[in-house]
Amino acid sequence: MKDSRKVLMSDPLVFTILALPSREPFIDLIGFDSDIVVDQSLSNRSQYFSFVRLSIAKKLFLAKKYLPKDIHFFIKEGYRSLDIQEIAFKRSLQRVKEKFPNQDLSYLIAEASKYVAPPHVAPHPTGGAVDLSLIDSNGFELDLGTPFDAIPHETDNATFFDATNISVEAIQNRKILAHALRSVGFVNYFTEWWHWSYGDKYWAVMNNVDQALYNHVTDSELLDLVQEV
Ligand SMILES: [Zn+2]
Repeated sequence: MKDSRKVLMSDPLVFTILALPSREPFIDLIGFDSDIVVDQSLSNRSQYFSFVRLSIAKKLFLAKKYLPKDIHFFIKEGYRSLDIQEIAFKRSLQRVKEKFPNQDLSYLIAEASKYVAPPHVAPHPTGGAVDLSLIDSNGFELDLGTPFDAIPHETDNATFFDATNISVEAIQNRKILAHALRSVGFVNYFTEWWHWSYGDKYWAVMNNVDQALYNHVTDSELLDLVQEV
């Protein structure tokens, strides 16, 4: 059943989900399918940024058929190591602390988690999450309302999936993205239109199950699980 609750990554509901180690293989989305284009300009972010669990790659392949002709997925980031997640979360926390100097820590953690998930619940280190946008056949990105990875509180929350302070065209393009990804079982994180996941703790909460399919893996565990296409 689809769940439209607005649950933050920092919510205790996400913390209580169990996640057992999974041996499901990882696959590199670069070269996986000619219609699933990887934005390689972001390769400096993280060494294995284009890797995801095999189920995620298969679901993206299935989701293609729900996209209009001449519109394609444009992959920004899949796997992210826990180390990078920790650095990113600390940076996000620092940024909100500067913006809201009088707020208490729980408020700051909630605000920070609208942009970067706290490490122990983070979807990307499990290989079950993917950040993506849409491109046309000429490789131009469609208008999705904000740049990928814009910061919610710096965009008047226009990064929120349901934002109405974006163009009609951008709202329509978000619907196209969501229809394709929801049709194959991905869930969105409501503060970031580009973030979708399957099998991680957040997915478990949104699907009312008490166990995630994937726990986070280290870079060396990922390498051990890599499957050649
Ligand atoms: Zn993400």
